Amino acid sequence: MIRYADATVANVCALVDAEKPAWRTDAQTRTAAIVAAGAFSKGAPSWSDIKAIFMRLQSNKCAFCEFPLGGEFAGKATQDVEHFRPKNEVKAWPNKAKKPPYTFNTGGTGSGYYWLAYDLSNYAAACKACNTARKSNYFPIAGVRGAAANTAVELNAVEQPYLVFPLGEADEDPESLITFAGLVALPAHDADGHAHRRGRITIDFFALNQREELWEDRFRTIYALFDAVEITKTNANPNRVEIARRRIEDMTSIAGAQAACARSFLRLIDADPQKAWDYYVAAEEFITDNRKKRAPKLG
Ligand SMILES: [Zn+2]
Repeated sequence: MIRYADATVANVCALVDAEKPAWRTDAQTRTAAIVAAGAFSKGAPSWSDIKAIFMRLQSNKCAFCEFPLGGEFAGKATQDVEHFRPKNEVKAWPNKAKKPPYTFNTGGTGSGYYWLAYDLSNYAAACKACNTARKSNYFPIAGVRGAAANTAVELNAVEQPYLVFPLGEADEDPESLITFAGLVALPAHDADGHAHRRGRITIDFFALNQREELWEDRFRTIYALFDAVEITKTNANPNRVEIARRRIEDMTSIAGAQAACARSFLRLIDADPQKAWDYYVAAEEFITDNRKKRAPKLG
């Protein structure tokens, strides 16, 4: 997952007002009814109406795993507006059937954050694999569940959430908590503490190291980035070097596939060229093996 630096809550509000002028007023009316009832119930406005705004802010990538969301047209059917804090009940994570077991508190169960159901600071666009299969109604925390009607800022103070929120100003930069060794996501902090646990749990929660579709994007990123850097160092043609330089810029920008992994790998090329070469060779082998495995067997 990465941070969307210019996706501040104020920016999101301005974008929603420009595209759907009545949305926030309708959301306020709806929220007042929900708060009066003390429980979530669905009605107008629809968060799907503003999904495309979040997809654009996120360069059409999932907020949590960076998997491509497939563009606005396809995304309308295949992607979700994710409620960061669940609007319905909160389930205990990890549940008993799932590993890994943590020896420390991860928050248990709770009632849903119904008052944030129509709050723009509680939304992000997410792929089905992250939202439906994994995020669901979970919201692991280190502290205690906050009180009804509290804002996200107030809740963060008492709850100390483990998952990182992608909107720029609302939380820490995910890259201060998660780094990459080649394609493998790791907590950026080694010593046990809240920062280490946030990284560890976010990686485990979204299965960032178990999903083959993410390995493939990371390996392709490593493969392409290494070649582009090599061109900037060895090619005598200044036009070729300039194009390679722009490719590096693109791959490590918010628009790049698996950009957090790309930025870690770019740093590694400088810091430890031999290790970077080893990852490059592994990436090439993975891509070649996968192509062979997928080739249709005829005859
Ligand atoms: Zn995802």
